[in-house]
Order: sequence, then structure tokens, then C-alpha cells
Amino acid sequence: MVRSAELEKESVVVDELISIDREPQRCECDHGDETAYAPCGRKAKWRVTIDCVCGEGHPRRVEILCSRCLRTARQEFGREAITARRL
Ligand SMILES: [Zn+2]
Ligand SMILES: [Zn+2]
Repeated sequence: MVRSAELEKESVVVDELISIDREPQRCECDHGDETAYAPCGRKAKWRVTIDCVCGEGHPRRVEILCSRCLRTARQEFGREAITARRL
């Protein structure tokens, strides 16, 4: 995944503004490979519902994601498949 320093900076600022009086939840996005699960671990800010995009009618997935992983998910699955709500 491409990581831009600018995105990183923007996310950090948002983290500090929003999460002061909230219980921190961690992004559960899997950044590992096929053999190992490696959670993202950044502060999560979005409850994200992802519709099945493979055409086999799987149930929606709900994931708790940080802003960066939400952006990645939108690129991966398309905006129409993603519904995000602030935690
Ligand atoms: Zn599916
Ligand atoms: Zn994340």
C-alpha cells in the first residue's frame, strides 16, 4: 500500500480533535498477509458497512476502521459498496 506523508499528517490531526473524550477503539483492518493477521491498530473512527462486491450475495461485513483504512476500502470496493458512520 502506498503511504503518503500528507495523509498521515491529516489523520493524526483528526485523531487528536475527535477522540479526546471517547473510549479509544482500534482499527481492526487486516494489514497482514495470507499467513498472518496483523491488525492496523490505529485509532478507529468509523463503523463501516461493506456490501458484497464479489457477486455471490454474501452478507454485509461491518468493520471498525480508521480514516486511512476507510479510504483504502473505498478504493478497493468502490464508494457505492461502502457505508461509513462515525463512531
Ligand atoms: Zn461476497
Ligand atoms: Zn486502519
